[in-house]
Amino acid sequence: MKLLLATRSVHKAAEVARILETAPGGAYRLVTLEDESVPWSAAEESLEPFETFEENAASKARYFADLTGLPTVADDSGLEVAALDGRPGVRTRRFAPLERYPGLERDDANNSHLLESLRGLPRAERGARYVCVACYMDPRTGDTAHFRGEAPGRIVTRPRGQGGFGYDPLFLDMDTGRTYAQLTSDEKHERSHRGRAFRALAAYLRS
Ligand code: IMP
Repeated sequence: MKLLLATRSVHKAAEVARILETAPGGAYRLVTLEDESVPWSAAEESLEPFETFEENAASKARYFADLTGLPTVADDSGLEVAALDGRPGVRTRRFAPLERYPGLERDDANNSHLLESLRGLPRAERGARYVCVACYMDPRTGDTAHFRGEAPGRIVTRPRGQGGFGYDPLFLDMDTGRTYAQLTSDEKHERSHRGRAFRALAAYLRS
């Protein structure tokens, strides 16, 4: 069975491929939007207008399942920071107002904005968590299922490490004392929000 991974993010696609590859075997072959030659469309920009990760993930999965007729999984993810009352949450990707960070790429602007938003806060008040919701949809049977993974951490005061992507240089794993950008990929997946969500999906597909 083909399983379509509905994301345009090369980072997410690589992470999910590795997580599923190392999860106990399933009877599916992961294919990407590129593998299936699904052309990019401007409509994709407006698939995440909702206030929950579950609704946004379902919206993306439904769109690509309808388009391709394939069993599809989509991931919606983000960062919830306690001192910001859970923001940026579902708005994590567009957190920074780019006009305030001229010359910076999206991820760098987001990281600068996060550091500025928490400036002066003591360590104990910098708690956060990553959240990932994977939504699986099979257009042939109508099966739909959500899998939520959460990972606790803390936002450090300056970037550390070269691995991972996005907010990883700022997200401290308290068990190891290293940021996600300082962990190996497999160490990250072992504890990450995405690792937890997609291992739950793999278990569901196995059963
Ligand atoms: P979306 O799921 O495409 O809406 O965007 C997720 C946002 O959260 C992007 O800004 C990502 O950079 C960020 N994000 C999600 N997962 C991770 C992760 O594992 N590491 C770092 N940033 C992440």
